[in-house]
Amino acid sequence: MEPVYKIQILEQEEIAEDVFYIKLEHPKGVSGTFIPGQLLALSYTPGSTVRYYSIASGNCEDFWGILYNRVSDGGLTPRLSGLRKGDSLYTSLPFGDFLSVKAPMVWIATGTGIAPFHSMVQSGKALEDTILVHGARQKKDFYFYENFLKIMDRRYIACSSLLEQHGFYSGRLSKYLKEDFSFAQCPEETCFYLCGSSSMIVDIRDLLLSKGVEFDKIICEIYF
Ligand SMILES: Cc1cc2nc3c(=O)[nH]c(=O)nc-3n(C[C@H](O)[C@H](O)[C@H](O)COP(=O)(O)OP(=O)(O)OC[C@H]3O[C@@H](n4cnc5c(N)ncnc54)[C@H](O)[C@@H]3O)c2cc1C
Repeated sequence: MEPVYKIQILEQEEIAEDVFYIKLEHPKGVSGTFIPGQLLALSYTPGSTVRYYSIASGNCEDFWGILYNRVSDGGLTPRLSGLRKGDSLYTSLPFGDFLSVKAPMVWIATGTGIAPFHSMVQSGKALEDTILVHGARQKKDFYFYENFLKIMDRRYIACSSLLEQHGFYSGRLSKYLKEDFSFAQCPEETCFYLCGSSSMIVDIRDLLLSKGVEFDKIICEIYF
């Protein structure tokens, strides 16, 4: 999918240090429809560096929201973070197959890997038995925390080894899954969705396999 559609920035906010939420208009004359979990290919100008971003907004909203980290020596994000309302950017149409299913789901994310799950929650894809486990360091790194808590309540587990306060699991995401998550209570058909860095995905996938989760029940979106 090539970023051939020129679009405008509707809004951009730095929601935590070096972390941005940008709202993009849908390309003119094209439906903005997407399936939560899909992504966009973005570039600054036609033919320049292309990078991929999960859509973080709900599928009923009239914009595409992207949550991203600014990487100081990166090919795209330093320029992306300098864009303001009315500036332009190039995008593909939504694509990708990191899609939710009707079976019980456990969603697992670190950092900005929370983006596709936010889209799913905002689009009503969090089912009554869906569990979301998010790992980050500081409170400010739990993007959309209040929203997840409001919608998922006790099925949202925010894990941090640095935080010891109400509303957070005190320990890394891997510790939670290893020691406190009840795999025995998961129905056999439960699907585990992982989103984040490659090192996190490899570690957590190994952990899930060691707990007896079948390989084809682990669905991954690797960020870089
Ligand atoms: C399927 C898919 C979906 C993605 N969705 C998102 C998303 O929703 N949000 C998001 O922020 N990113 C997402 N990414 C990563 C994104 O595509 C870029 O790689 C990232 O934004 C960095 O782009 P850049 O051009 O600024 O830096 P690059 O030029 O790609 O990287 C420069 C250097 O920084 C390192 N680096 C890259 N990303 C990071 C990082 N986050 N932290 C620390 N070092 C890094 C690289 O390894 C490289 O050494 C996704 C990637 C894929 C493949």
